[in-house]
Amino acid sequence: MSIKDNLHKIKSSIPENVTLVVVTKTQPVEKIMEVYNAGHLIFGENKVQEMLGKYEQLPKNIQWHIIGHLQSNKVKFIAPFVSLIHSVDSLKLLQEINKQAQINKRIIDCLLQVYIAKEESKFGLDFAEAKQIFYSEELKELKNIRITGLMGMATNTVNQEQIANEFKSLNTFFKNLQTVQPFLQILSMGMSSDYPVAIENGSTLIRVGSSIFGYRN
Ligand SMILES: *Cc1c(COP(=O)(O)O)cnc(C)c1O
Repeated sequence: MSIKDNLHKIKSSIPENVTLVVVTKTQPVEKIMEVYNAGHLIFGENKVQEMLGKYEQLPKNIQWHIIGHLQSNKVKFIAPFVSLIHSVDSLKLLQEINKQAQINKRIIDCLLQVYIAKEESKFGLDFAEAKQIFYSEELKELKNIRITGLMGMATNTVNQEQIANEFKSLNTFFKNLQTVQPFLQILSMGMSSDYPVAIENGSTLIRVGSSIFGYRN
């Protein structure tokens, strides 16, 4: 199947209220243009340098999401154009995003990345740390950022029940926070291997790469 066929297959299989972010990491601009020409405008990259290069070469109406770990000293490079940052894992990083957003006269939307996997390698906050940021006095000072949701990654396992439980735990946390923070709207969960399970468990935004482009080297 072509990239375009894969894209259409996924789009037609997900509910209308679920946003698809096409993950373009390691993909050349020609392949990304196939997705763009099929009418899709939301793309995700996990590395700042790679996103910058593609931002410069590709059409300017693309909405770029950063989905990978973000270092404070790199925020300034993406602040002029990034449309959503999925991977906020500290107040310090939020403060730097706020500062760079202010310099660019923008408000930048952010998700807090919450750790739900039983793996050492994944970044993110635990539930208590995420809550602490939400209720902190410091957050109220940050007028140029908006926390619009949460992001989480499940354990890389074939155990579907474990994956479902991890997504469920984040959905429950999200729903609880929503009762006090109604502007929280995005629950970013699910990639190629687990997006159907993520959607069943409340995801409103999926990040899919290899199911569209084929396996990455
Ligand atoms: C690479 C990546 C994805 C997409 O993974 P696929 O398995 O290619 O769909 C999703 N989210 C994050 C954070 C990633 O780094």
